[in-house]
Amino acid sequence: TFKAIRVDKTDGGQTVGLVDFDEAELMDGDVTVRITHSTVNYKDGLALTGKAPVVRRWPMIPGIDFAGEVEASSHPDWKPGNAVILNGWGVGETHLGGFAEKARVKGDWLVPLPESLSAAEAMAIGTAGFTAMLSVMALERQRLSPDRGPVIVTGAAGGVGSVAIALLAKLGWHVVASTGRLNEADYLKELGAAEVIDRAELAGAPRPLAKERWAAGIDTVGSTPLANMLSMIRYGGSVAACGLAAGMDLPTSVAPFILRGVSLLGIDSVMCPGPRRREGWARLAADLDRAKLAAMTRTIGLKDVEAAGRDILAGHVRGRLVVEIG
Ligand code: NAP
Repeated sequence: TFKAIRVDKTDGGQTVGLVDFDEAELMDGDVTVRITHSTVNYKDGLALTGKAPVVRRWPMIPGIDFAGEVEASSHPDWKPGNAVILNGWGVGETHLGGFAEKARVKGDWLVPLPESLSAAEAMAIGTAGFTAMLSVMALERQRLSPDRGPVIVTGAAGGVGSVAIALLAKLGWHVVASTGRLNEADYLKELGAAEVIDRAELAGAPRPLAKERWAAGIDTVGSTPLANMLSMIRYGGSVAACGLAAGMDLPTSVAPFILRGVSLLGIDSVMCPGPRRREGWARLAADLDRAKLAAMTRTIGLKDVEAAGRDILAGHVRGRLVVEIG
């Protein structure tokens, strides 16, 4: 057996607990990994609480990413001792996940741990940081650059937001951080925000168009704030949309798209194809300031994961949480 967080379905709900998980219950896969680190993302909060139907297989070990060492492999790319990362591919949703001492997965899902990153740093980045990187790369594919004007980041004090700010500042952008936690303004400025605004500025009833403010945006919250952001994007700008912390809806109009040539770029980390996945991790290893990464990260243990899941949904987690395992 090995230690794991196990979620079981009950009549009209679910139970969560730290248990001894039977190795014979692991799912099919050609690589077995000894997990050393995982992390708690927003989606893990949804899985741990059952607040949204993230878990689609029972029992489940939640945890949508992990880092560790290959223990056994029949996959040509991996041999025992290799340091690996996994994020996405339905792990922690449809395939047993990362809040455990062990995982068995498809070798095709794994990425080598970049040489300059420790396993703990890789999980401080995690799905959230990887998604921030994919969002930056999407803006770059639109040929947007810092000389075009400021960039806005919503959900700034959260995981995706914190990494996005550090990355964009390093790349030379004037970063505007939108947050509901103005008491975290110093934290956000240390990460590289040039300005901090109250998310209430994006909370009113959206108009089709408003005063042009930002050349680009990374949005982690969706709903009304995203609609307002779109109405304020400068001519020819783009927004990378990756999250739904404020809601799944999007009460906007086509006005920003057809009158200002604004583009809305969808970001998905889960099924992100291999080559872009490797590029994303390589860019993170190169472009993310390690001192800033450390400043946004807190470390917890497996026993703390369930409470962390509730905290992240309540918007109480600042930056990133690493789960140290074993
Ligand atoms: P997180 O750490 O909880 O960050 C979310 C932040 O959003 C919060 O810290 C808060 O920031 C803000 N927020 C929370 N509730 C809000 C509300 N009702 N209205 C406005 N703002 C609110 O979560 P995360 O792990 O960074 O993930 C952020 C979002 O990205 C989640 O929706 C997640 O599902 C999504 N995501 C998507 C992908 C993908 O592949 N597309 C990958 C990773 C994450 P402030 O306190 O600063 O306002």
